[in-house]
Amino acid sequence: MNRKCKKFEKHLSACVDGELSPPMQEAVEKHLASCAHCAEKVKGWTALSERSAEALNAVADSSSPPHGMPTRVMAEARARRAQLRTVRAFRRLAVSAAAALLAVVVGGGVLFAQMRHEERILRKLVVSQRDDLSQAQKQLEEAQERHEKSISALHFRMGELLERVEGFSPRTVFLPTESSNL
Ligand SMILES: [Zn+2]
Repeated sequence: MNRKCKKFEKHLSACVDGELSPPMQEAVEKHLASCAHCAEKVKGWTALSERSAEALNAVADSSSPPHGMPTRVMAEARARRAQLRTVRAFRRLAVSAAAALLAVVVGGGVLFAQMRHEERILRKLVVSQRDDLSQAQKQLEEAQERHEKSISALHFRMGELLERVEGFSPRTVFLPTESSNL
């Protein structure tokens, strides 16, 4: 008997009846695995509980009360067993309802996580497309700049050529009067 035993003492009987919440049941079972004192107690109670359940069933199942048993006791045994069955049915129902609720919550969580994931992917896609677009725009601007440069180089070259051609133009050579009008 130690400090931990004191902490779990009040839960041992509920543990035997299977009435603890799953986390508490787990905690108690963990303690039982390492504590012979409490494990022995639970073992004794479990055996007792099984024996009394068997006795209850035997009485409730018999068509006539065992010798010397008042009918009232028999009726009580049957009522008690019916009550236990109802309690167990309700417990099972509660467990399956909790499981269903958990499934809905987990399912919703998974769906939500998936939505968030898809949203992130879409956002990334938009960002990458925006990047692509701005890169394409930049390339276009650079191409335009190169184009303008080559056009102005071409103009310059054309000007040079024209000057050279005009320098040797038959008009400047042979028609000096007209070239002064240009
Ligand atoms: Zn203990």
